[in-house]
Amino acid sequence: MHIKELVLDDFKSFGRKTRIPFYEDFTVVTGPNGSGKSNIIDGVLFALGLARTRGIRAEKLTDLIYNPGYDDGEEPPGTKEASVTVVLDNSDGKLDRSQVVNAAGTDNIGDVDEITIKRRVKETEDNYYSYYYLNERSVNLSDIQDLLAQAGVAPEGYNVVMQGDVTEIINMTPYQRRGIIDEIAGVAEFDAKKEDAFGE
Ligand code: ATP
Ligand code: MG
Repeated sequence: MHIKELVLDDFKSFGRKTRIPFYEDFTVVTGPNGSGKSNIIDGVLFALGLARTRGIRAEKLTDLIYNPGYDDGEEPPGTKEASVTVVLDNSDGKLDRSQVVNAAGTDNIGDVDEITIKRRVKETEDNYYSYYYLNERSVNLSDIQDLLAQAGVAPEGYNVVMQGDVTEIINMTPYQRRGIIDEIAGVAEFDAKKEDAFGE
């Protein structure tokens, strides 16, 4: 399974609907400083619910909505909504139909060779709202997280290696580093369950 396409709409610096293709093996994004490269990764983390606002360099969710006067600290004029869609290529069947049906809460989800996960943030006069969609069905964050966990994608899973992570890993004690390996190998989950069981 891999990301096939990312669609950013009024997300951060992407004031126009932008489609970014991802290739199966390797995709490199290059560009000048401040051109939006990191914002692309922020978009993935945002849509898949893999990071809190601070992890995607925003104080609040509504800072993620495109604002042409962002760098001058101006209030946004028109745009009150942002969305990011992650299109996953699931043609290798990493997630089977029943897992996707389960997460979507309905079997009316079309083909699961392609899985689309979308998140939208909307600002109103006095509040803001965040919505998640799985193959265009409205779902909760936990549905997305449970589904992705079955494909080995988790907030603590190092699927995304952020700036500074490598240095952090190098500076860890061997014991802490072992923790990461346990996490990636999926052993940590059982350790946690074991501890819970002992607790009871
Ligand atoms: P570098 O090479 O320095 O890492 P980069 O290509 O990763 O740069 P980003 O950090 O992705 O650049 O983009 C930063 C730009 O995104 C800033 O100029 C900032 O103004 C802009 N930006 C962030 N949030 C918004 C927003 N809500 N509306 C408009 N622009 C935004
Ligand atoms: Mg950057």
